[in-house]
Amino acid sequence: MVIFKSKQMPIDLPTTLTDWDWLFDSPYSPLSKYPPSELAGFQNAITKERVNWQEVKEYSTYISTALVKRYGLKEGETVALFSQNTVWYPVAMFAGLRVGAKISGASPAYNVEEMTFALKTADAKFLMTTPGSMDVAAASAKAAGLPQSNVFLLEGELPGYTTVAELIQIGKGYGPGGQAPVFKLSPGKKNGDVCGFLSFSSGTTGLPKAVMISHQNVIAQCLQIQQLTPSNQKKIMAVLPLFHITGLVHQMHLPILLNAEVVMLPQFTMEKMLDIIVEYQLGELLLVPPILIRLVRDPIVDQYDLRHVTRFSSGAAPLSEEIIQQLKTKFPNTGFKQGYGMTESCSCITAHPPDKFDYKYAHSGGAIVASTEVKIIQEDGTEADVGGVGEVLARGPQIVMGYLNNEKATRDTFDEEGWLHTGDQGAIDDEGMIHITDRIKELIKVKGIGVAPAELEDLLLGHEKVEDVAVMGIQDDYSGELPKAYVVLKPGVNVDSVVGKELIEFVKEKKVRYKWIKEIEFTDEIPKSGSGKILRRVLRDKERSGKERG
Ligand code: AMP
Repeated sequence: MVIFKSKQMPIDLPTTLTDWDWLFDSPYSPLSKYPPSELAGFQNAITKERVNWQEVKEYSTYISTALVKRYGLKEGETVALFSQNTVWYPVAMFAGLRVGAKISGASPAYNVEEMTFALKTADAKFLMTTPGSMDVAAASAKAAGLPQSNVFLLEGELPGYTTVAELIQIGKGYGPGGQAPVFKLSPGKKNGDVCGFLSFSSGTTGLPKAVMISHQNVIAQCLQIQQLTPSNQKKIMAVLPLFHITGLVHQMHLPILLNAEVVMLPQFTMEKMLDIIVEYQLGELLLVPPILIRLVRDPIVDQYDLRHVTRFSSGAAPLSEEIIQQLKTKFPNTGFKQGYGMTESCSCITAHPPDKFDYKYAHSGGAIVASTEVKIIQEDGTEADVGGVGEVLARGPQIVMGYLNNEKATRDTFDEEGWLHTGDQGAIDDEGMIHITDRIKELIKVKGIGVAPAELEDLLLGHEKVEDVAVMGIQDDYSGELPKAYVVLKPGVNVDSVVGKELIEFVKEKKVRYKWIKEIEFTDEIPKSGSGKILRRVLRDKERSGKERG
């Protein structure tokens, strides 16, 4: 049996600590290692609002007390966070975790339908948002059966809604002895048995599902990445969305463990990001490929002196050889690292170790992180040795618990021996580095965010002119990939550009921007297996051969 094992020192994983205790009340906590004046924190780079770890702990204690004692939040219930990046996002997250709630993040760009689906799928009982997202939040809360009193504002004010600032005051009012008790693991339970987070992913097939991430998963991943992080990394740029697994781990948990200042950008623009990189002299930049592409192509970049940048850190989607070369030419003295993983592996399965922070290794997704094993299963079902290509399977303490209320998908993705079937194709080279060569699963990655083809297929099948449809990802220079639909029209409907535009508009009306269809191709038939499954590989081969022909 060929199993690739990590070359890193195994992590010493605490199994009896909850996420909250680990970060705020244990020997791992920066609160037990640093004097108050040296504590880093979360800060909003635009408004300059800042909370250090001690304040995060205090505020989350008060907020959780108000939620439990005044609003009836119970252990195990879900609190949904629907917001752009703000320092109050992690505070609210830790408030929920402190009392044993599950935290579910959702893209602030979601429309009412999408947010309603997210609230219902995660069975959310509370919702926290910002004024800019309140229209969608209020309508989806109503549709999902949440009373208005359970919808809160993380920042700003709006009539009829309680703010987090008010929750803090309410909690404070219970006095030092009256705070809601901290959630503890019940006897015999480990932190791997308790779900702390629900993140959305479509996995290898089907509609988006709520991924159950345990307290242990996040702790393990932070310890795995800490090993690979230089100790002088004291600032972390948070321009990626907090709701994504990268935000959850690398922008809200790991920085506390490292006592590194988190510099947040509420809304991404290239100019604002460049401004804060210079203003805060940010050394390591945690980015996704579409932003790296802009760093080499957007002329605005030339107006900034980025010579202080020590490293680009890329993840969430593949980065092309062409862009790696352009980065190397434009920023020859900057280091480079990459992480490969998925929501179901609580972020990284592999990541670059410090001795490989170099463009030379940029085409690789890094080495297997500590306490983790990888198998490569070839098409004939056998396990590949060094260099052999096949589906990547991973096992380790960061592999998540499964999908909420979806046993079938859980069984299909996580096997009995604990292996996560990633749906990605790759190989391990003779230096132990992974190379992701293709994606076997349906997932489309637009700007690093996952789009489930099944979701767009379901929508388009509901259009009066559509008989059958298959959606897949096609290459796009800026976004990495964009959705394309193969459509069979109902008998009698004429194939013309008007119908094409109509269908594209139909998706635009119903779905968040990153799910919009770039292209429609009309066809007579969608290739299907005997059991009715769309043969996506046939479509992909067709797409590729079309591209080659030009
Ligand atoms: P998500 O759950 O949104 O993080 O999506 C996970 C998927 O993104 C993986 O299964 C891969 O298909 C893709 N992905 C993530 N990181 C990388 C990487 N470094 N290189 C290539 N693909 C990646």
